[in-house]
Amino acid sequence: MKIQTNKDLISRSLSAVWHPCSQMKQYESFPLVPIARGSGAWLYDFDGNKYLDAVSSWWVNLFGHSNPSINAALRDQLEKLEHVMLAGFTHEPVVELSERLRELAPPGLGHCFYGSDGASATEIALKMSAHYWRNTGQPDKSQFISLQDSYHGETLGALSVTDVALFRDAYGALIKQQATVISPDWRHAEAGESSEAYALRCAGALESHLQQHHAQLAAFIIEPLVQGAAGMAMYHPAYLKRARELCDQYDVHLIADEIAVGMGRTGTMFACEQGGISPDFLLISKGITGGYLPLSIVMTSDTIYQAFYDDKTSRGFLHSHSYTGNPLACRAALATLDIFKQNEVLSENRRKAEYLNRIAAPLKNHPKVKSFRNTGMIWAFEVESPHADFAQRCFSLALSQEILIRPMGKTVYFMPPYVISESEIEILVMRTLTLVESLT
Ligand SMILES: *Cc1c(COP(=O)(O)O)cnc(C)c1O
Repeated sequence: MKIQTNKDLISRSLSAVWHPCSQMKQYESFPLVPIARGSGAWLYDFDGNKYLDAVSSWWVNLFGHSNPSINAALRDQLEKLEHVMLAGFTHEPVVELSERLRELAPPGLGHCFYGSDGASATEIALKMSAHYWRNTGQPDKSQFISLQDSYHGETLGALSVTDVALFRDAYGALIKQQATVISPDWRHAEAGESSEAYALRCAGALESHLQQHHAQLAAFIIEPLVQGAAGMAMYHPAYLKRARELCDQYDVHLIADEIAVGMGRTGTMFACEQGGISPDFLLISKGITGGYLPLSIVMTSDTIYQAFYDDKTSRGFLHSHSYTGNPLACRAALATLDIFKQNEVLSENRRKAEYLNRIAAPLKNHPKVKSFRNTGMIWAFEVESPHADFAQRCFSLALSQEILIRPMGKTVYFMPPYVISESEIEILVMRTLTLVESLT
């Protein structure tokens, strides 16, 4: 058999595969990285190089690559049932997963609707919210608001509540763009203003928007605590609490997009817990399958569910994807929840986070590093670099140091798998410090 090399796979990929979120021409100067296998926090290529996956493969991996217990659960499921349609049928993994999520989620979210990717969860929640108001006799409530710099996915409906110009502008003519309100991102606080005071000031802006527009508004969609694609913008949980109160007061749904921040990423199972709130819709994806298979879930309350429960088909929620509630994906999710249950994952993560923060002091205090921040198992900071192509340079240089980090503009972030060890944390922090020094 011909031995696979990095070089072969790169040229075949460039000729046949259109890669996501990429200007394909850039691969001429910054080559693709072929991956042969993964184990724990590491990825390995075909030429004997390895990379510490400090971004959890786009924020999805929780318990390492090729995790033995998730592998075993999937093998077992494969022997029983790979897939069956969920309209008119049901199966054990989807029932068990729905029951277990009801136990884990903030109170009141008893019903799970299934999608595939994160963006499909956003679409489902937007449609379900507007349809709820239609079913309850308020069809004018069909608009949405999101935070400035929000990201909720890249399908057309999700883009309408996404405030990232690069992803949106080319498709402007196709999108029914929705309004945004100011983000509580504490980097924008006045000098001397606490993150909490700033969050409450921003909630004031939300209040005036709701006051004026509530009659047309179906829902407010937010990424609780950390706005990922905005460059890991972080904010005080007081905003969540106040947003919940205001949405109740003005009869507007609150949609918590926990696609990136759920599953323990911010230090609690769900970020909403830190604001002490239950949203009307909770969106879960990414880490739910441990990073194995695409699956998304929209959890919602009895009140929402009951508004669709009727003799008329047209009052039902008419939405489906071919792979809705796929048994393999649900089984991977159950195996992931088992790992949370059998190990003290959240408290172990707290110890790991404290350790990282302790050894990161030289990075945090580096004169070219600004706004070093941390929530749970997410870290980010801005680097003052003279290089306009800082992100690409940093990514390439990091790979040569065996670490996979993928800056957004001049924001460097870490979002490692929870299995990262103290010695791997040291590798990550020390090598990042060296990178910062050579790029500033
Ligand atoms: C990744 C992400 C999405 C979209 O999920 P996909 O699976 O990429 O479609 C939506 N919202 C947030 C907050 C995300 O981080």
